[in-house]
Amino acid sequence: MPQDEKQYLVGKTLVELQDFCATIDEPRYRAYQLFYWLYTKQVAVFADMTNISKKLRSRLTEEAGIHVLEEVTRTESETGETRKVLFRTGDNQQVEAVLMKEGSRITVCLSTQVGCKLDCQFCATAEMGFARNLTVAEILNQFLLLQKISPERITNVVFMGMGEPFLNYPRVIGAAELINHQEGINLGARKITISTAGIVPQIRRFGSERQRFKLAISLNASDQATREKIMPIARQYPLPELLNSVREYYDITRNRPTFEYVLMAGINDSQEDAVRLVKLIGGLPCKVNLIPYNEIGGRYRRPTDEKIEVFLELLYNAPFTVTVRRSKGIGINAGCGQLAVSRN
Ligand code: SF4
Repeated sequence: MPQDEKQYLVGKTLVELQDFCATIDEPRYRAYQLFYWLYTKQVAVFADMTNISKKLRSRLTEEAGIHVLEEVTRTESETGETRKVLFRTGDNQQVEAVLMKEGSRITVCLSTQVGCKLDCQFCATAEMGFARNLTVAEILNQFLLLQKISPERITNVVFMGMGEPFLNYPRVIGAAELINHQEGINLGARKITISTAGIVPQIRRFGSERQRFKLAISLNASDQATREKIMPIARQYPLPELLNSVREYYDITRNRPTFEYVLMAGINDSQEDAVRLVKLIGGLPCKVNLIPYNEIGGRYRRPTDEKIEVFLELLYNAPFTVTVRRSKGIGINAGCGQLAVSRN
């Protein structure tokens, strides 16, 4: 097989591996072996696939590949609990992913696009512009390489890194399905969260397909004017339309969505904002995750701790559960909204 037609196996489904086996005149059962080695054992080289003949292993080493990403740099927070990894793709694009440890919970935050076109005003990724969607292989490869770094098994996956997952819908769902596959990585669907800035047609699709993965919506404002100011996508999908789609999603799946709310000083952290938030989503079975803003050197600021407490107290009697995510990777720019790759 010529070099430019070299096939990389990570990210392939069982059926795609069967097709691959057909192209190299190998029996179908070989695909099950490859699937096992790729996702259950998570080997990085064909030489480690010990129940495959030596002859085939060397042929595969020559004619095919496994991983499509290469690690460029790794940054660790002071406590060592958060690690941010920069990866290079085959076409020399760069993406970041984060590995976080909180007690027994090991979470990875994966990127889904190179850059992002949504231009949320508080986000470092937005400043990069948009280059392209990541493939299933590139998304899954982030998971596998982070698992290699982590001494413990990854327990949670969030699609909240660079990019808008729902603008790369089929590939994100494809990667999530492989992470969830019982005969492979086997991470429960409810441990996998897909977060969107509010792409209404895809929220509807996610609901109508009865996807079992968790849905998070990056809300960040309780009124249309503020939301439009910080998230231009709100002009295309206004709040009532967004909330209707989330309600439809809940009605079909009975899964409570999570609303992410990045608290920014003087933008959306007032007492009125808190009261309005309860009114806006109080009728919807949901959870709210408050994320005090991680400053990236731009115009937005993190509210003071007192201000955060007041906001939180006003949500105390709300009919939804509220959690506060105090990002752990701020010092290494691995906190929420801080992922960005500088173009040299
Ligand atoms: S917050 Fe998410 S959707 Fe918005 S610009 Fe950043 S990466 Fe894109």
